[in-house]
Amino acid sequence: MLVKMCDLDSVRHTYGVYTEETHEQLRKHDQEFGVLLETIRRYGDFENTNFVILGDHGQTDVEDVLNINRLLVREGFIKLDEAGNVESFEAFGHSTGLACLIEVGDPGNADQLQRVRNYLESLKADPNIKLRYVLDKDQAKAEYHLEGPFDFVIESDRNVSFSDRLNNTEIWASREPGDHKIGMATHGSRPDRVETTAFLACGPGFKQGVVIDQANMVDIAPTLAEILGLSMQNCDGEPMKGIINPHESKR
Ligand SMILES: [Zn+2]
Repeated sequence: MLVKMCDLDSVRHTYGVYTEETHEQLRKHDQEFGVLLETIRRYGDFENTNFVILGDHGQTDVEDVLNINRLLVREGFIKLDEAGNVESFEAFGHSTGLACLIEVGDPGNADQLQRVRNYLESLKADPNIKLRYVLDKDQAKAEYHLEGPFDFVIESDRNVSFSDRLNNTEIWASREPGDHKIGMATHGSRPDRVETTAFLACGPGFKQGVVIDQANMVDIAPTLAEILGLSMQNCDGEPMKGIINPHESKR
């Protein structure tokens, strides 16, 4: 059984990462989980059930919101018509929250691609924007298995989230509590920021009392498959042998 408890994510987008509201939401999730546990204890096969609690990302409190496409309008990479709609573009930003995917208008045009790359690289030295990296398509695929209709990935060294809207004429915008890209807190960054997520597992398939500092997200599915006596072929991750109880997992 898979249960998705997604309210902590929404509450963090609205109030921030560590607030009274997020603690209250964690208590609510704890009660919901308690109801599940007690129901399985009374009516299910509790002794032979494995329980796993996990998240797919943490969040970071947002300091500033950069209207990336207004910046690209100012720098001449996006041309707008009189109604303010996009007429043509050489570079357009698509926000993932804390990172931004930059789509080049004609990526087959080597000059255009280089101009966009040079401009993005120059933002590393901008004292407000402070980009920490500019990854191109090939680097994003090789390092993070990230691919799609974009040509660069950028992220700030500060806690800046990206807005990709064009309806605000300012370069810098306000946070909008609850918005998943520009809320009080958000996610969507490279996975080396401080905030990580949690993984807890207990039951006959797991060793007791094992603590590991870090794990890879891609190892979770093969681990859960092994607990079920299955093996996943052709996937990036591998089972976390250190937490699996070898005597029980194959049943
Ligand atoms: Zn979210």
